[in-house]
Amino acid sequence: MNLQGAITEEMTKFSCSDEAQLLAIGRQLGPLLEKGDVIALTGDLGAGKTTLVRGLIQAFIADEEVPSPTYTLVQTYDLPNYELWHCDLYRLKHPDEVFELGLVDVLEDVVSFIEWPYKMGQYLPQDALPLHIKFVENGREVIFGNVWADRRVESLINV
Ligand code: ADP
Ligand code: MG
Repeated sequence: MNLQGAITEEMTKFSCSDEAQLLAIGRQLGPLLEKGDVIALTGDLGAGKTTLVRGLIQAFIADEEVPSPTYTLVQTYDLPNYELWHCDLYRLKHPDEVFELGLVDVLEDVVSFIEWPYKMGQYLPQDALPLHIKFVENGREVIFGNVWADRRVESLINV
């Protein structure tokens, strides 16, 4: 298994005791990102990957529904500073299918949040930003890998 994008060293983590706290982390992430960012979003089923992205999108587009891309694999959103691609590759059968989705072609031009990123195999960029959500006893832990160091994620407020 190719471990590119994996969290090898943890930089910053936030405890989220409820869904609202996870949404708040997502909401504050938007301004820290820029075109070309690929976020390798990992965590078990139901950890809150989709919820976090929902928080980000709803910060820009109030009342936007933000369905899980479980079946469509990709949902796109026009945000003020970039286009956002929210992907769930759980159902991808082979890495080459990312070409059919058009994902590889747009990675440099959009911000992409990719759930189940390792399904992309060799097409997952080496510089993807690892973000992991972990089940813990009293909720979830959101863990940023150390390559986020220049993104000021430590300034996020855990409301
Ligand atoms: P994933 O995309 O990782 O499979 P989802 O975001 O679709 O997960 O679902 C996460 C579910 O967990 C939501 O139904 C959410 O309400 C629930 N949940 C319960 N406790 C928490 C918590 N502390 N943080 C985030 N989500 C939580
Ligand atoms: Mg999901």
